[in-house]
Amino acid sequence: MPATDTYCTAHSIDDFRHNLATVQRRIAEACKRAGRDPQTVRLLPVSKTIPEDRLRLAYAAGCRQMGENKVQEALRKAETMSDLSDLRWSVIGHLQTNKAKYVARFASEFQALDNLRVAQELDRRLQAEGRGLDVLVQVNTSRESSKFGLPPDEVLAFVRQLPAFTSLRVHGLMTLAVFSPDLALVRPCFVKLRHLRDQLRQEAPDGIDMTDLSMGMSGDFEAAIEEGATIVRVGQAIFGPRALPDSHYWPPSNPTTSPS
Ligand SMILES: *Cc1c(COP(=O)(O)O)cnc(C)c1O
Repeated sequence: MPATDTYCTAHSIDDFRHNLATVQRRIAEACKRAGRDPQTVRLLPVSKTIPEDRLRLAYAAGCRQMGENKVQEALRKAETMSDLSDLRWSVIGHLQTNKAKYVARFASEFQALDNLRVAQELDRRLQAEGRGLDVLVQVNTSRESSKFGLPPDEVLAFVRQLPAFTSLRVHGLMTLAVFSPDLALVRPCFVKLRHLRDQLRQEAPDGIDMTDLSMGMSGDFEAAIEEGATIVRVGQAIFGPRALPDSHYWPPSNPTTSPS
């Protein structure tokens, strides 16, 4: 994983254009190595902690979707930037059931579905709003207890329940890999998610699409693409280094001993 000082903070539309072009070029190069079409990889800019004025610069540079991991921060930004009517919001962090109502109001995508109570509450609120929501199921591929997401061996039973929630459009799986600069530790998480997706493609019920693999962040998105990512979630390589370490967002913990 590159040191955070290798990321340049974007303060102007040109800075954002430059950072976006650099990330897109790295995506294209990773696709080439993997024999993949770059059109099959979606770049999701992750804008958590970034204030509105800089999000507007990113929008002016071409970003039409932003990923946020905290619902209330995302809702506040969506409301203050509602004049940008083609800007879509993706919630990529864990959701408590009592906050599902906010996601149902403004988000176009939710990437961290990992329990049925949230699915039920989202569906109920979406029905009331007359909206649908694109959804990914979050899988814990790193066996770290601090990370949310279902253990891999529980995902099939989980997705079999999802057709009941008709406003949720399930498109695939999302994971946070282990946090390590060592790609030899990170890559197996990506491989595990791809294998699980391939298995679920055979076994998931009708109406449950298993195309997408959301995996890879600023430090490891090229490896994720080599392993099949269709969505990469990139914050710091576009916006610049975050002041707070990753442990602020995902408290560290020891790997659990439960089998996966
Ligand atoms: C912050 C975040 C990212 C992006 O991480 P960067 O290091 O900024 O690229 C990706 N996924 C999730 C769930 C995040 O919270």
